[in-house]
Amino acid sequence: MSNKVLGIDLGTTNSAVAIIEDGQPHIIPVGGERLLPSVVGLDPEGGLLVGRHAYNQWGVSAERTVRSVKRLMGSGKNVEMAGTTYTPQEISAFILRRLREAAAAYLGEDVQRAVITVPAYFNEPQRQATIEAGEIAGLQVERILNEPTAAALAYGYGRESGGQPLRVLVYDLGGGTFDVSIIELDGEIVDVIATAGNNHLGGDDFDQRLADLLADEFERDHKIDLRQNHQAWARLFRAAEEAKIELSSVPYATVNLEYIASDKKGRPLHIQREIQREEFEGLISDLLDGTLDAIDQALTDANLEAGDLDRVLLVGGSTRIPAVWSLITEHLEREPHSEIDPDAAVALGAAVQAGIVGGEEIDAILVDVTPFSLGIETATFRGGRIKDDHFVPLIRRNTAVPVQKSEMFNTIFPGQQAIHVKVYQGESSVASQNVLLGDFMFDELKPNRSDGLTEVTVNFQLDINGILNVTVIDRAGRKQVSEQMKASRQRLSPEDIAQSQAKLSLTYADADETDEDEVVFDPGVHALLERAAKVLADPDVDPELAGDISDVMIAIREAAQEGDDEAVEERCDELIDLLFEAEE
Ligand code: AMP
Repeated sequence: MSNKVLGIDLGTTNSAVAIIEDGQPHIIPVGGERLLPSVVGLDPEGGLLVGRHAYNQWGVSAERTVRSVKRLMGSGKNVEMAGTTYTPQEISAFILRRLREAAAAYLGEDVQRAVITVPAYFNEPQRQATIEAGEIAGLQVERILNEPTAAALAYGYGRESGGQPLRVLVYDLGGGTFDVSIIELDGEIVDVIATAGNNHLGGDDFDQRLADLLADEFERDHKIDLRQNHQAWARLFRAAEEAKIELSSVPYATVNLEYIASDKKGRPLHIQREIQREEFEGLISDLLDGTLDAIDQALTDANLEAGDLDRVLLVGGSTRIPAVWSLITEHLEREPHSEIDPDAAVALGAAVQAGIVGGEEIDAILVDVTPFSLGIETATFRGGRIKDDHFVPLIRRNTAVPVQKSEMFNTIFPGQQAIHVKVYQGESSVASQNVLLGDFMFDELKPNRSDGLTEVTVNFQLDINGILNVTVIDRAGRKQVSEQMKASRQRLSPEDIAQSQAKLSLTYADADETDEDEVVFDPGVHALLERAAKVLADPDVDPELAGDISDVMIAIREAAQEGDDEAVEERCDELIDLLFEAEE
């Protein structure tokens, strides 16, 4: 028998299995996919379906299919599938067995030991039921691990021995459940201090809101309620989920459903509807706002304030919705970490725990991230004047690469025929204080709005080598212009990311303040600061030196703000020496 141990995330919507290889946790693909839908079914011939096939069958024969069985674990209730009764443990065991088979196929040997994760709020019967499911699937369950702890382990927290205890808030928004946990990690000791959430909130509800909107519109136009037809509703629901996922990276998505119903004369009816990201976010905003109450509840229960937290982690597929990131950043006044694939983080952390159980050497997980935000300069009309030089990031710093993001922008004058697209890298809200990566003209615009303005989509595609492809598209004019440029790239461990975040937030908080209360520098000082900003943008600069440079830059700003010319001069000399060292 293999001495390897699997890490398994047995989720409500999706499950995943991971293992340590070469000191790093890796997701094992199941049927070519990273996630296995937690759905089990029997086909009309009685054949067992697990995962994607069962998920597809749910649309056409729900009575032969079981979803979300995790909600019933430990409840003593059973489920019916194709007329036969099963315990939740048995259904879960089908899922676990499929994961075990995928691992055996991938590793070329059968693995019979596993660490399985459960929500922090699971009680003893629920944990016991999970162990039993593992046993039914032929697995020896070495450890039941709390999901938020697994997420923290994936980020490398909690494996350091000694040091200060770390307080981590894990915000986990999946397909069907939402929970917030606050954990305290002190070396090997992990305490879940508080949990809050809603067992019936997640991506499914967002799909439902969108599907309901489309069904309401269809009913208004055709007097047919698609919710009454199981198959049509299942198609609509699935299309809503696809559109929702698309809207996390592009500003609009189209739901196209042909032959969704037929009218009284038997003529086919279709749905073709464009949804804008803002419209979708409006549909779910009350649900997202509700998640903030759970954060506050968990903080109150833990007797902590937001400022007492050391880290905030985002876990679960639904945290990819951009509005989630912004809401949490605003509410907790700090940027959460989401560098590790949010729907793989729990399985990866389970694999880390499994590796520890199996006595493996584990290195820190390395993630490829973009160390600076990437965006464009925009202008706005304010008080009858044009205010330009405003920086709008499309890809935020510390986003895992490769990544693709699009946003919609519009021209500022009716009849405007060209746009100057200027692409910057940096964190200042003032575009020119960042590093200009490149610029190009987009002309021959045709107005596509009733007010004479033109909407264009700007798409940023950043690959693993830091190559940024910027594409501007005017849908009305059917015109598209692409440019390629090189962004800085860095490979960081989560510790490096945390360190540079702390450093950057200090620098940029300061820079943003100066935006309000602008400091006017002597041109020589200004040029020196620009030179320093360029050095900081270089990924090869020694991190310690970069820290010193950024500290001196802050000191120069402070001295200039206080009007202390002598201190400015002294600090500038220091900066010149440091730049000399860095540019050598
Ligand atoms: P999990 O339970 O963590 O696997 O999360 C599954 C949920 O995440 C489902 O509702 C998915 O539709 C949702 N999801 C996955 N990817 C995205 C995305 N890019 N944007 C929005 N929701 C997503």
